[in-house]
Amino acid sequence: SSAPLKVAVTGAAGQIGYSLLFRLASGALAADRPIELRLLEIEPALKALEGVVMELDDCAFPQLAGVEIGSDPEKIFDGVNLALLVGARPRGPGMERSDLLSANGAIFTAQGKALNAVAADDVRIGVTGNPANTNALIAKSNAPDIPAERFSALTRLDHNRAISQLAAKTGAPVTDITHMTIWGNHSATQYPDLFHAEVGGRNAAEVVGDQEWIESTFIPTVAKRGAAIIEARGSSSAASAASATIDAARDWLFGSAEGDWVSMAVVSDGSYGVPEGLVSSFPVTTSNGDWEIVQGLEIDDFSRARIDASTAELAEERDAVTELGLI
Ligand code: NDP
Repeated sequence: SSAPLKVAVTGAAGQIGYSLLFRLASGALAADRPIELRLLEIEPALKALEGVVMELDDCAFPQLAGVEIGSDPEKIFDGVNLALLVGARPRGPGMERSDLLSANGAIFTAQGKALNAVAADDVRIGVTGNPANTNALIAKSNAPDIPAERFSALTRLDHNRAISQLAAKTGAPVTDITHMTIWGNHSATQYPDLFHAEVGGRNAAEVVGDQEWIESTFIPTVAKRGAAIIEARGSSSAASAASATIDAARDWLFGSAEGDWVSMAVVSDGSYGVPEGLVSSFPVTTSNGDWEIVQGLEIDDFSRARIDASTAELAEERDAVTELGLI
């Protein structure tokens, strides 16, 4: 169809936004369809956002059908087909976890309500801003008229990082790595699973043949990659987070690769013992804007313990935001 895809991005003047907007406008999401950007920022960041829009104009992107900016979610989310919720309140010095949850609670309750009121009937909502899983849970709980399965949180960056680490270890090209899974929370407790992943069609854990490397190198390297990038670059990963945000949205809207799956944090139906209602990462296949959790994978004790630890953390976050009255 040639009607523009209306895509909202929040926190559009931030670091991730600075990479994300140009990729979206240049066709990385929907190659053959015009795109209209609806950019949300807090009032003090609107001037900087105007500068970013000037740069978007200066690219003369053929696919960019329009750009609107503002600080009122009810205006910006009006009629959007896709909302990428990137802006979130970072943890400041001396900030307790409950402060972080309430600051983000205020943002994601308001955005959930606004999406509920004005988004298009076919809206899909992807949350990148941290704590992403729980922010998605809050937005979902404040949008009673939007089906719960339209909300997801980003674990695709962790998924891509896991593919890249496995490719480097085995010498295989990234295109040979399939069936990667991130389970649980987008946090240090996440579980990148090599027991179902494949390298050139062979079981990844067997190809690696080194349980010690999986436990002591692979899992922590993937889970702590964000901190390693801050250490090296002097600021957090932004281009890779933007790239993963696009990978996730593109596969969600247009389908995951035949014969493979992707990782997405979606509302649990109780699959794999993940408590129902938590927004937790699973292996999913996607087609036509819908996702389905891959069923029937065997989970051994090693994987079980790690999935349980990460989903226990999600349950604690849910309890905390329930107590704060945010859901
Ligand atoms: P970034 O653009 O770098 O990051 C935005 C969010 O993405 C953060 O919550 C960050 O989490 C998260 N994130 C998820 N995955 C990653 C990853 N792999 N690497 C880095 N970050 C990741 O933050 P900036 O501070 O540059 O920009 C945020 C913008 O959001 C600001 O312009 C601010 O004004 C805006 N904002 C807008 C709101 C709105 O539209 N209503 C509300 C709140 C903020 P983490 O903090 O854990 O790094």
